[in-house]
Amino acid sequence: MECTIRTAPHDAVTITHSYMKKYIIISASFVIVLLIIIGLSAIQKTRCEGAFFAMGGIPVRVVAYDRTRAEFGEDLRSVENQVERLENIFSRYRSDSDISRLNRAGRSCLNVSEHLIKILQRSKHWADITGGAFDVTVGPLIDMWKRAEREGRLPVVLDNQMTKSNVGMGLLRIEGDRVCLSRDDMSLDLGGIAKGAILDAAVDTLVERGVHRGVVDAGGDVAAFGDGEFGIGIRDPLNKDELMGILKVPAVGVVTSGNYERFVTIGGKRYSHIIDPRIGMPVESLISVTVFGPNATDADALATAISVMGREQAIGLLQSLENFRVIMIERNDRGKYDVWCSADLAELIELAPPWKGALRTF
Ligand code: AMP
Ligand code: MG
Repeated sequence: MECTIRTAPHDAVTITHSYMKKYIIISASFVIVLLIIIGLSAIQKTRCEGAFFAMGGIPVRVVAYDRTRAEFGEDLRSVENQVERLENIFSRYRSDSDISRLNRAGRSCLNVSEHLIKILQRSKHWADITGGAFDVTVGPLIDMWKRAEREGRLPVVLDNQMTKSNVGMGLLRIEGDRVCLSRDDMSLDLGGIAKGAILDAAVDTLVERGVHRGVVDAGGDVAAFGDGEFGIGIRDPLNKDELMGILKVPAVGVVTSGNYERFVTIGGKRYSHIIDPRIGMPVESLISVTVFGPNATDADALATAISVMGREQAIGLLQSLENFRVIMIERNDRGKYDVWCSADLAELIELAPPWKGALRTF
């Protein structure tokens, strides 16, 4: 944890005749300065930054403005607890999570936490407006492709058809605080929306604690809140340690969906971890999709949906979505990459040298 404090410059070195005397004075003044800094940082309101690991080893970075060191220590702990709480509800990889209990329960109804109800309602909304491109009931198809990787062969058509019959938002009902699944072999997977929801919940936690401005960043996916502008870096899909560009925007949720980090390999070919639920096949067209939206939950869902829909369908959908902006990276027929975004966003982006000249607007 680190808080940046501006203190008045001080004279650390006093000239003396003997080396020892000089050494003692320097050491003593260093200790005094250090104590002053520690003392000041305890009371001075400033920009603080801290981090922890969550969601399978992702670094979660929290920045808050106008906080004392003591306040921020509590802020960070509260955010970490909240993230842990939500992972215990949303994660398919934790056997006692609400999601895992639901997936095990098969055809039945279960009482679940209000956080899960909220995220499922949002998921239904995005499934509706993307014509089923976004679908959190995609679990059986994800499992089918993982199995295919283990067996080293593509899924057969019949297997795909049978698996698809257990996928579809119409098979999921929300009744008050109960969720009902209508097939035994259904399974929900919140991988396309949970990170965004966790980022938004982290922001809520900070706001409830009285933080007016800050940023929560989980491995490049960001929720920024409060007044003023925030510098947002866009990850380079071809080099995950580099940024493709930066832009300055007001409070925002920014989430990137891409097939460059997670994939299955079958017969030497890489297949995306994002599946088109309508055909049961991994998506191929877009390398990466970054969505800017009013919150991270919706940006996350839309980024995954656009990865499924492809550029042209996405541009059609975006005309009806006022509060969202998108950057789509696509391989063109010359084997190079195009960076597609709306003209208003293009004006704000500062692209890194390897990407200059790749911008295309719609
Ligand atoms: P993201 O990185 O947000 O695009 O999420 C990708 C993850 O979402 C995958 O690893 C799956 O867990 C899940 N997923 C895959 N395909 C879909 C889909 N069509 N709709 C919703 N979630 C999906
Ligand atoms: Mg997503």
